[in-house]
Amino acid sequence: MRKVVITLVICTIAIIAVACNGNEGVGNSLPKTGVAIFMFDNTFMSGVRSAITSAAEGKIAVDIVDSKNSQTKENDKVDQFISKQMKAMAINPVDRTAAGIIIDKAQRANIPVVFINREPLATDLAKWDKVFFVGAKAEESGTMEGEILVEYWKANASMDKNGDGVLQYVMLKGEPGHQDTELRTKFSVIAIEEAGIKVESLGVEIAMWDRVNAQEKMAEFLIAHGDKIEAVIANNDDMALGAIEALKVAGYFKNGKFMPVVGVDATEPAMQALKDGTLLGTVLNDAVNQGKATVELMSVLAAGGMPTKENTGYDITDGKYVWIPYQKVTQW
Ligand code: BGC
Ligand code: CA
Repeated sequence: MRKVVITLVICTIAIIAVACNGNEGVGNSLPKTGVAIFMFDNTFMSGVRSAITSAAEGKIAVDIVDSKNSQTKENDKVDQFISKQMKAMAINPVDRTAAGIIIDKAQRANIPVVFINREPLATDLAKWDKVFFVGAKAEESGTMEGEILVEYWKANASMDKNGDGVLQYVMLKGEPGHQDTELRTKFSVIAIEEAGIKVESLGVEIAMWDRVNAQEKMAEFLIAHGDKIEAVIANNDDMALGAIEALKVAGYFKNGKFMPVVGVDATEPAMQALKDGTLLGTVLNDAVNQGKATVELMSVLAAGGMPTKENTGYDITDGKYVWIPYQKVTQW
């Protein structure tokens, strides 16, 4: 009887200990990792950030910090991660050419790094074997944006407003130097030309990925070119939505007045605009899988391993890259 009681007491204590650990101790027992996002105030990266947080649950403890669009601030954050002896880091560079310096620091401290969203130069990635990139192929998203416009052009003769057989467009660009800016701009137009459609650029403006900025640029395009514009190509959804605001002010999207506008990301507000019939199409930039892949890689690296398809569930191309595919999303 005594033995049974003692055993029961011991079991109870053990159960309580496990339960308590389960509640409070999780953060402490999981490997510590650090994530620096270029700017919390960015719609797409907010999606990646929450995907990282939910994927990390029960796997790794993540300290996610805001670099506030300053590479200097981000370098300080990296120093802090190093002094805290994080087991792995994920860095979304403010300036992708700054990756080299971060890699040097990380290597000295032997802390593996996964870069996300802003692709470091191949020469920088080659510096160390514990450096990776999780992202999506920029040219693919550009091509898809172009293809959406091609499909619409072929199905709607009225898109050629002046009937000259040429597609007159304006382009809203993201931050200069970002691979997504340069390659989406280029490949969206190439896709249209490759479909045998002649194009004419009426204007190209940088709107820094930003909705308000894009609204202003679009308002200027409308003043300069008005109804000569037959399509708006934006490097991302926030800018496409800004353009739509300016177009609404100019009387579009009512009384049969339409403008084909395309973007990239498939953010929540963009999906709403698609439903509302304002945004013609977008390209899914898969934040959920980008966040998940980042966590999978970090947790393998934090445990001292090397990521493979088997231990992460994602193909590691050239021992460096995890490419998350894009997907077209259209009104039809
Ligand atoms: C997204 C943009 C975002 C940028 C941030 C791109 O992949 O499409 O919406 O602003 O990343 O680096
Ligand atoms: Ca035309």
